[in-house]
Amino acid sequence: MTKTVHIIGAGISGLSAAVRLANENLKVHVHEATQQAGGRCRSYFDAATNLTIDNGNHLLLSGNRHAVAYARSIGTQAGLVGPKSAQFPFVDLRTGQRWQLDLGDGRLPLWVFDEARRVPDTGLFDYLALMPLIWAAKSKLVGDAIPCKGTLYERLVQPLLFAALNVDPPEGSAGLAGAVVRETLLAGGQACRPLIARDGLSAVLVEPAIRLLQQKGASIAFGHELRAFSMSGDRVGELQFGDDTVAIGPECVVVLAVPPRPASALLPGLKTPTKFRAIVNAHFRFDPPRDMPPILGVVGGLVEWLFAFPQRLSITISNGDRLVDMPREELAQAIWRDICKAGSVAGELPPWQIVRERRATFEATPEQNALRPGAQTGWKNLFLAGDWTDTGLPATIEGSVRSGNRAADLVLALR
Ligand SMILES: Cc1cc2nc3c(=O)[nH]c(=O)nc-3n(C[C@H](O)[C@H](O)[C@H](O)COP(=O)(O)OP(=O)(O)OC[C@H]3O[C@@H](n4cnc5c(N)ncnc54)[C@H](O)[C@@H]3O)c2cc1C
Repeated sequence: MTKTVHIIGAGISGLSAAVRLANENLKVHVHEATQQAGGRCRSYFDAATNLTIDNGNHLLLSGNRHAVAYARSIGTQAGLVGPKSAQFPFVDLRTGQRWQLDLGDGRLPLWVFDEARRVPDTGLFDYLALMPLIWAAKSKLVGDAIPCKGTLYERLVQPLLFAALNVDPPEGSAGLAGAVVRETLLAGGQACRPLIARDGLSAVLVEPAIRLLQQKGASIAFGHELRAFSMSGDRVGELQFGDDTVAIGPECVVVLAVPPRPASALLPGLKTPTKFRAIVNAHFRFDPPRDMPPILGVVGGLVEWLFAFPQRLSITISNGDRLVDMPREELAQAIWRDICKAGSVAGELPPWQIVRERRATFEATPEQNALRPGAQTGWKNLFLAGDWTDTGLPATIEGSVRSGNRAADLVLALR
């Protein structure tokens, strides 16, 4: 009879598993290596801008149903805010052309039949050419499944898949891209409404989970890094944290919700993705003009998405490995130039911060996707969670929550 669960890692996957299990009245102990929960999805005070910023701008879509349900379960669904319908304004920095993609709020992608709502200069057949992606095999490349050129590609498919896969789409996994398209574009505008944690990732997705866990009697130990497992037959026997060791009795189960590198160090022989891609975010202390949309898609420049927050403009650049060694000031200047054009703002470079997450996501290629393990391990009381486990999705909050829920369900199935 399982009564106690030790969860290693307080990122979104570990927290979602913890919340689900605490709600089922299991005794939950969370162990986090750092002093802060949230992992790759967290906020912190930044002295350079004198603002609380997120490590990265995180965009959810209303079709991310597990992520939205997780927010609901911790009482913060209202903190995920976005426009009433799935409208995406875009600007092309090369031509200055602006347009708005209006996916409406239906359950079917009927907008493709309406010339006024399609991407400008695209026709119905351009959209039909995307069909092979929908059920593409995991081993296939996006570039072998659909045409990676032309107006529709440049103005919609490339920005969407670049952000979702964090690789240049032609080299990405068509299977993962297909999952994204099925759950968003193909599910109509009601699944594509952009959602942002406006008050910060930690305030909306992390701290309320910690509070709920504490109310339910769970313990959360920060600065408590798991250094090694001791195995006993086909079970985990002990957790070794350096200064202390926790015995894992017959009623105890462990969920390992750490990134791939620590997971493979803790479990030698575990198959995990081995290649990663960076995401670059930059934050500028600047009051957005009143008419600036909360999210603006940018093509033809360095910047890909421009987010307007109170007192702050922030940008995201995916697949950012080429920028990780660029001098920071030079990068800030280049980004600010793009922002001025895209956002129609002017002025000297305001106070700024650049956050370069080198291993933001595993590389969403067919080769790396094939290295993702399931949640079960060779040990009966050890399950895996994390955006890099085999969720069928790229490394996203939605994938993390699904992985946490799946690990929790496996724990509950032992009862
Ligand atoms: C810059 C950036 C932008 C992103 N943008 C988006 C986006 O727009 N939309 C989206 O859906 N997703 C986005 N993502 C992806 C999303 O953040 C991740 O998929 C998600 O946060 C991963 O959660 P996780 O729990 O799987 O892993 P992690 O967040 O990596 O959590 C793992 C935790 O385990 C801890 N840990 C590690 N080793 C140990 C140990 N030995 N003992 C104890 N604890 C340990 C770590 O400190 C960490 O807290 C982005 C990511 C980044 C970095």
